[in-house]
Parts: sequence; structure tokens; C-alpha cells
Amino acid sequence: MCGIVGYIGKQKALPVLIDGIKSLEYRGYDSAGFAVSTAGGVVKSKKAVGRVSNLELKIEEKDIRHGNAGICHTRWATHGGVTEENAHPHSDCKGELWLCHNGIIENYKDFKSDLARRGHTFKSETDSEVLAHLIEEFKTQDPALATEEAVRLALLSVRGTYGLALLDSKNPGTLIAARNFSPLLIGVGDGEYIIASDASAVLKHTKNVVYLDDGEMAVLTPKSHKIFDLKRNTINRKSEELTWDIEEAQKGGNPHFMLKEILEEPEAIENSIRGRIVAKEGLIKLGGILAVEEKLRNAKRILIAGCGTAYLAGKVGEYMLEEYGGIPVKIELASEFRYRKPIFREGDVMLVVSQSGETADTLAALAEAKQKGVLSLGIVNVVGSTIARQTDAGVYQHVGPEIGVASTKAFTSQVAILALLSVMLGRQRDMSVVMARRITEELSRIPELMKKIIKQSEAIKKLAKKYQPYRDFLFLGRKYNYPVALEGALKLKEISYVHAEGFSAGEMKHGPIAMIDKSFPSICIAPSDSVYEKMVSNMEEIKARSGPIIVIATEGNKKIEEITKDVIYIPKTLEMLTPLLAVVPLQLFAYHFGVLRGLDVDKPRNLAKSVTVE
Ligand code: GLU
Repeated sequence: MCGIVGYIGKQKALPVLIDGIKSLEYRGYDSAGFAVSTAGGVVKSKKAVGRVSNLELKIEEKDIRHGNAGICHTRWATHGGVTEENAHPHSDCKGELWLCHNGIIENYKDFKSDLARRGHTFKSETDSEVLAHLIEEFKTQDPALATEEAVRLALLSVRGTYGLALLDSKNPGTLIAARNFSPLLIGVGDGEYIIASDASAVLKHTKNVVYLDDGEMAVLTPKSHKIFDLKRNTINRKSEELTWDIEEAQKGGNPHFMLKEILEEPEAIENSIRGRIVAKEGLIKLGGILAVEEKLRNAKRILIAGCGTAYLAGKVGEYMLEEYGGIPVKIELASEFRYRKPIFREGDVMLVVSQSGETADTLAALAEAKQKGVLSLGIVNVVGSTIARQTDAGVYQHVGPEIGVASTKAFTSQVAILALLSVMLGRQRDMSVVMARRITEELSRIPELMKKIIKQSEAIKKLAKKYQPYRDFLFLGRKYNYPVALEGALKLKEISYVHAEGFSAGEMKHGPIAMIDKSFPSICIAPSDSVYEKMVSNMEEIKARSGPIIVIATEGNKKIEEITKDVIYIPKTLEMLTPLLAVVPLQLFAYHFGVLRGLDVDKPRNLAKSVTVE
């Protein structure tokens, strides 16, 4: 999920690696490390916690004169804390095979115990290190086996996502790369190759790149490369010429991180749910809360706290957990919770939600709950963050770094995890296996459905253009999409600095309707669900007062066009999962609206990504 650079060629590897990894720093990471070949056939490696500059402080003159092959990594911890031991590269027992890995090896625990029994010793807590030992094990069992073949066999055995770069001290004239659901490309230079997890690391050296696809490996020497799939079929892929500059490359060719992160949402959901659903039995397996599963069985109430977008994800969770988890839920703004007098009861569980895991108010709410002796859980993206460390148990989002200040992929991922939690708690209570399967099957389809919405980005841009003259917006939704209305309004405010209010549609008559006239548009979230008819009544009332309307409706609902022509269609899904789809057009609308206003959508004024102060 974070940065990989590999080099093989005519230059000394280390300076190229360090230079390359610096251009990946923008992604955010927690530690860094490198491994380079030496003339003596031994690999030298150094690692440091924190910035690449900390790693640079450890580099001595002699390191720079080392060999012409090497690998380098910036880590975004997923398994194991942020320590030097857990930083990559990792090696096998003999220190011969060195690898950098991005992603998650889901079944690493199965292998770890088996390998330990066979005498392997592990130096880190990471999932990644297991790969090095597994490759070593294949080579031990068949000493004639080429390293690339051992890598292939190891990759066939594991389950998970990887971008991988591997250096073999016994064969420093070769570098091995592999990819599965984690980006990796190869820069093709003149007598040199650079492996990188994104193009910004290669652009200084070459504009010619070959992209690896999922399930593919590459073997590189300074003068040649071969690509093949895990069945050993050769892949003949021509290199492409990049026209991007470094900044564009960091954004994956998109003009802004915010857009890149919206486009990444399908993949982010996949990463958040991968390996966590046991489809056949309709069960949910959340490694981080396994230890407290029995306590959750006896839980009587869940209190959720968060701030901003995370609070709104929690609010969707409130509806899902009550309807499907079968447990009473109370959602709280962390900033309020911390100062009022919350009354805890026996059987209460506190669940805090925070992308960064450092949100000051959320931390204070958590501290209050802990003080009262309540079991605490977290939904957090940043591994090893304060909330992750201070909660009794929790679920990591695994969506990779979110750079745009306005949260997008982190929100949908939090909602997806809350859906998993609802099924998990539901199955401990009254939910049938049939219902669990229905929800999890549908949740697994969400990434595909999201892609259909993302394709409408240009049409949404046209709407944003049409509505440019307006400076006030009302967002309305009911039930599951009430929090989505709040989130849509929040996003528009953050990104465009226009006035936007989110309301539950049922509250419209209790105030907001007074604002409606032809200069005050409403954005209504009205999928074909149990409250659809009620939403139609709201829209009729707005129309009767000449209020312009944009509506988010379910595909096939042509009748809605009798109310307004400005319709954004989303695919049909289970009512509880509609927020995952309905929010995407609202994120795109806010994005385009802000860009059309000429604003810095990645860094909106006055806002910070991680709100570590009250
Ligand atoms: N799962 C690996 C770890 O926690 C790789 C993390 C990354 O993608 O940087 O070390």
C-alpha cells in the first residue's frame, strides 16, 4: 500500500533507490528501509522508523559504493507496529533473500506457525516476512529450484494482495517483481530497470514503463526483462511512454488526489472486506476483534463516537447495527460526548471511528469510556495510531493513505466495515445464515456497482456546471440516506465553500422548507427503498415552491424524471448498503463543483487532514 522502488543496472543502486523513494513520500508512510547487493555477494540493509531522512542519516559513504542492484520501501503498517524490525526489506533466515512488500498476506498466520515448526526464525511481526521464509522453504526442499520458481510457488500458496520486489544475494544480477491487487510497474531504461509502485519514482530516469497486471511476475537483469503469469505463461507486453510529470504521476494521472481517491473507492472496499467474509457459513471474521468476540456476544448496547465524516459513517452504522446487528446503538459526536455526562451501563461497548486514529476529540471520548471501564473498539485506517493502540480491539480499514483532506474512500470503507460488524453481531443474535449471505454477497458486489457510478463522472460534472451560479444547497435524505445527505452537504461545504445544509427529509417541514425558492436548490437522495414514497412527497413540495432539484435515484426509475430532469442514477442494492453507492455521486459533485470554482480541492482552506487538536 505504500512505496516500493527496485533498481538493477549500471549505476550504483542506493542513490537511485533513495531518490526514487523520496518521490513516493507524498503518500505518507511510517518507516523506510533498503537492501543493496555488494561486491562480496552479501546484501546490506538498513532501516529506520519515521521519515526517509532518518534512513539517510544512517547511510555511510561505503553504502553508496555498494552494488548495482537493490530494493527500497516505505511502509504503511498493516500487520505489526511501527518499529525498525517491522520495516522492510525483510529477509529469510540466511539473509540471502530480501523482499519489499506492499499489501497484505491474508493467510500468513497459517504459514508462520508451520514455518516456525520447520525451524524458521522470524525477526518481525509482519505478514510480509512470512513470504521470504516461504520462498526459502521451497528452495530448501528443492535446492535445485531457481529463486524465481520458488517465488512463483510461494505466491501460488498465499492469499492476499502484493506488490513485491525481491533481491537474491546469490544472484545479484537479477531482480524479481510480482503484483496482485497492489500497483507495480517497471521503468525500462538504457541498460537499467527500475521497479516502482508508482510512476513518480521512475520518471527522472525513463518515461518508458511496462505495467504488471494482477497475478504477474517479472524477472529483470540489467539488459532484459521477462514477464509471465503464475502459470508460467509468457506475457509479451510492450512498454508505454508516459506523458506525465512527477506531480501528475503521484496522482495516478488524475488532476487531484481527491479524484484519485474517489476512483479508488471500489478497490478500497475490496481491501476492507477481503478475507473477512466466510461466505458459506454467513460468518464474518475480523482478526482484530477475535479476542473480544465472546464479550460482544453479551454486549447490550453500542455507543459510537466520531467527528466529521467518520461520525457520519458511524451514523449509517447506527441504522445498520440496530436493524441487522439486533443491538441498540447510540451515536455521539465525540466533541460532545467528552464533555457531557454519559451514563454507561453494564454491557455497553464503545466504538470509535477515525481515519487517522489521532482525532483529538475522538481520543478524549475513548478515554472517557475507558475510564468508566467500558470495552472499547476502533475502526481506524492508520495502523499503530493512538486510537488503534488504545482501544481493546478493532478493525483496520486497509484502504491505504488518504491524501485529499476531504475524506472519500475512508468514509465508504468505514461504512463497509460497519456492515460487516452488523452481520457479525447479527449472527451472534438472531440473523439467519440466509440473511447473512444475502448481505455479504451484496457487499461483495458493491465495488462493481460503484464503478458504474464513477463512469458517470462527466455527466455529474455537467450538473456541477449547471448549478455553479447557486450558493445555497439543501441535501435531503431519509433513513439510511439521512447521514448521506449530511455527508453530501459536508463535502460540498469543505470543497466548494458554498453554503450547504444536510437535513433528514422528514424535518423539512419543520424549518428548512422556508428557505426553498428558485434560487435554493435541493439535492435529494431517493433510491427505490422503503422510504422512497416519502422522498417523492418531499420533492413534490420543493417543486411546488419552484425549488430546483437534483435527485439520486435507482436505475430504471424513469418516473422520477417527471419531477426533475437532473437525475443521477445509482444501481439497485440492499437498502442498508445504498449509502455506499449514493455518497459517490455526491463526492463527485462536490469535487467538480470545487474544481469549477478554481479551488484547491485537495487542501481546502482552514482544514487539516488529521484534527489532532480540539
Ligand atoms: N503488510 C505489510 C506490513 O505491514 C506491508 C505494508 C505496506 O503495504 O506498506 O508490513
